[in-house]
Amino acid sequence: MGDESEITIDCSFTKEISVLFRCRCNNKVYDNLIKLKNHEKTKSHIAWQCEKELRELRISLKRCQEQNERLEQANIKVKKEYHRQKRINIELIELQEQHELQRQQ
Ligand SMILES: [Zn+2]
Repeated sequence: MGDESEITIDCSFTKEISVLFRCRCNNKVYDNLIKLKNHEKTKSHIAWQCEKELRELRISLKRCQEQNERLEQANIKVKKEYHRQKRINIELIELQEQHELQRQQ
């Protein structure tokens, strides 16, 4: 292995670095990890990060609220059905009792 192959490896590594060290907040490419890490300490990056996390939280909160509403609606339906069945049972018992009384007379 000579110097050429080492240079080739360096080139591909450099290409990879230019992709890896891009920050999504401003789409800028940083020369190395230290520069990127330093950028990540800046107010503008931190503000972007907070905004992003807040957005994700809002989305998950909205999903939770929607799920909660669906569960509440389902719960109301179940309760209504339970009370309906209960009424039917009471009516049936009353009918059976009336029938029983009529037979005894
Ligand atoms: Zn950034």
